[in-house]
Amino acid sequence: MNLNAEYDIVVVGAGVAGLSAGTASARSGARTLVIDAAPEVAMKTKGEIIRSDNTIVENILEKPLPAHIINGKTKHRRIYSPSSKNHMVLESSYESLMIEYRPFLYEIARACIGAGASLALNTIAGELILNDEEEVCGLNCRSGGEHFSLHCKAVIGADGHSSRLREQASLPSPATCTAYKVVIEGGNIPDTDVLEFFLLNNPSGALWIFPKGGNCAECGITLWDQSPEAQKTNLQALWEQHRMNHPLLSERLAGASYVLTSFDKLIFGGVLEEFVRPGLVLVGDAAGQVGARGSSGILSGMNMGYTAGEFLGACTAAENAVAGKAIMERCMQVMKKTETWRSLKEEEEKARMTRHFLFEILKTNEEIDNAWDAIAEMAAKTV
Ligand SMILES: Cc1cc2nc3c(=O)[nH]c(=O)nc-3n(C[C@H](O)[C@H](O)[C@H](O)COP(=O)(O)OP(=O)(O)OC[C@H]3O[C@@H](n4cnc5c(N)ncnc54)[C@H](O)[C@@H]3O)c2cc1C
Repeated sequence: MNLNAEYDIVVVGAGVAGLSAGTASARSGARTLVIDAAPEVAMKTKGEIIRSDNTIVENILEKPLPAHIINGKTKHRRIYSPSSKNHMVLESSYESLMIEYRPFLYEIARACIGAGASLALNTIAGELILNDEEEVCGLNCRSGGEHFSLHCKAVIGADGHSSRLREQASLPSPATCTAYKVVIEGGNIPDTDVLEFFLLNNPSGALWIFPKGGNCAECGITLWDQSPEAQKTNLQALWEQHRMNHPLLSERLAGASYVLTSFDKLIFGGVLEEFVRPGLVLVGDAAGQVGARGSSGILSGMNMGYTAGEFLGACTAAENAVAGKAIMERCMQVMKKTETWRSLKEEEEKARMTRHFLFEILKTNEEIDNAWDAIAEMAAKTV
């Protein structure tokens, strides 16, 4: 691959959003380069759950999701109150797939390269380059100790939750919370087709178990509480405390060993209303495009990335100039007209109301337990 070649579109970030954007852009006829700072596609193993009734996966892969990527299917979530005295089982009208994230990302990377895009790993995006009209027309990059500039007609910023491109474009940051995740082997998972959530109170958050089989699961902890004290919590230590003492978690994990541990940030709401600048659009986590209720960032990132890539790919393949203000505003409008945008906004509102009710109106575990039937009724309406 030739980094000195001319590109119409440079995508920063080879996660789900960037690879989807790169696929669509290349399919629209644009000369497309996707760069990533990491030495491997899918360095981080993140989400596990996607809805099966989506169309974007098959659209990108041009085939159904390969069976080896699917660990299981479920329609059920079991949610326990913070005291563990009560629980509810929510049945959704759609099926969720429990997937293997890394091979999933390899499949999307294959589609992206197959569409004609180039992929450059170990390549770090630095400063945005602006032309005389203050439009983004390229990037300064670093790879293997060398500094070089990439010039293009538009940059798609898919550089994740801590996006440096977003910072440079002076766009606001979405709210995030940290998650500590472990993959276990040798556990006792009673129902391999049920996702389990154990709510936490003071500080508010959740523990989760997503089965991969009878003994294997992806588990973790996250705190939603945005207070400075809660944000300083040592999540790993808190997880270990719950692992030993939580009545149900300790049962499920008795005798289990970890085969993977990781810290990462989850977008916690705050889908950016404004996510373009002349020559630049943000997609995926970089733009907060993650469902606030269930961290549905995989499909929303793919959908938003694909929509942006398709639109800008077609524009830049046809025009011999940087995608200026009017084109980028139009790109944002096209993205906001999608079903994905509508559901992102709807989820944000519902999640805000549920958390407000659960943890701000009701304060103690006892109050939550006393109101459990009402909470379950409210939750059933939002599945
Ligand atoms: C613990 C956890 C559990 C989750 N569970 C689910 C789930 O069950 N279902 C679901 O749908 N979603 C889930 N999510 C959310 C989902 O994983 C994310 O929303 C999604 O992966 C974001 O994709 P992205 O492409 O926007 O960003 P990322 O995957 O973060 O990709 C960004 C890429 O940009 C690269 N990059 C950053 N800076 C630069 C730079 N300067 N130069 C070059 N490259 C750069 C990074 O190396 C990275 O590869 C979960 C997230 C976490 C953390």
